[in-house]
Amino acid sequence: CYVTVIRVFIQVRTFSVIRGLLVLLHKPVLKTDIYCICSVQVVGRGCYGNVWMGQLIDQCAAVKQLSLNNRQNFLNERDIYRLPMMEHENIARFIDATERQLPGKAPELLIILEYYPLGSLNNFLKHKSCNWPEACRMAHSITRGLSYLHTERLYKPAIAHRDLNSRNVLVHSDGTCAISDFGMAMALSRPFSGPLEEETAAIAEVGTYRYMAPEVLDGAINLSDHQTALKQVDVYALGLMYWELFSRCSDIFSGHVAPPFSLAFEAELGSHPTFDEMQQLVARERHRPVFPASWQDDPLALAYLKLVIEECWEQDAEARITACCAEERMKELGELRPLCLSVVSSLCTAT
Ligand code: ADP
Ligand code: MG
Ligand code: MG
Repeated sequence: CYVTVIRVFIQVRTFSVIRGLLVLLHKPVLKTDIYCICSVQVVGRGCYGNVWMGQLIDQCAAVKQLSLNNRQNFLNERDIYRLPMMEHENIARFIDATERQLPGKAPELLIILEYYPLGSLNNFLKHKSCNWPEACRMAHSITRGLSYLHTERLYKPAIAHRDLNSRNVLVHSDGTCAISDFGMAMALSRPFSGPLEEETAAIAEVGTYRYMAPEVLDGAINLSDHQTALKQVDVYALGLMYWELFSRCSDIFSGHVAPPFSLAFEAELGSHPTFDEMQQLVARERHRPVFPASWQDDPLALAYLKLVIEECWEQDAEARITACCAEERMKELGELRPLCLSVVSSLCTAT
């Protein structure tokens, strides 16, 4: 009996020594001291809580604060950021994720990211228009991020974002973009195994109504190849984002003045479209945001832009281009000059 007690004691001691070592080894990996995160100001409000600009010991960061009710969303976002090879220029830079409880406060879940001073693409476009090279650069960088996300690498699974929209894209100070908010994202390596109804719901009931693809709105997503289907859903939303972005490109409007920022389908359905309204408009009537009249006169660059956008938001998911192909297209688009710019520059050289 004594021998057993001693054995158990030794095992427990060994276990705690190993655990202590692991904690010590793990310590340098933790990049933040959670008690030293000092919130400075709110920089964004999402569906799940506030995002603060915070001061860590040695750097400025964005701190996304979620309540315990949103644990599932927190865990999903954290686990996606922690997947191997998620460091990429066009994916928001993850610093840490942690749970903390400050004295006298409710426990909170924190996702800590690099702080992007220009905020979301949505916020950026509301306040600023851009010229042609800037718009092409932004569009190319978002697409590059999505293409990377969708691609399986040696240790990295392919990932579908599932809530791609201009509020979930952040703008770097150099004008390139990074995809963020992986609360709904899904690594695509595992096959579905649950009952069919649950699987359909798991896929169909996510995302922002405004950006939902017709097959999602109709509950008609192709589950037999869910990996391809979920990527196609992302590409549909990418097309809407291109429309929002280039609608603020001053170079391609008469008088070089872009109209105020408008969300996709805002003209048709206002600020808070319901699921049923979106289903009627997008899935049944097959309606898409309207291209500005001034885009009609350009047989090359703007015709190409419209073609790419249409190839992304095709009704038939199978007919959409892949993110990788869209990346190529956006690169090519950046090398073209819209007619209005060529006219301006030839006038300048003539005078
Ligand atoms: P939710 O999951 O609640 O939608 P998000 O991660 O999308 O939260 O963040 C909400 C908003 O906070 C974004 O639309 C953006 O305006 C702002 N935001 C998020 N992360 C950052 C960041 N790293 N830097 C600057 N602003 C950010
Ligand atoms: Mg968001
Ligand atoms: Mg989210």
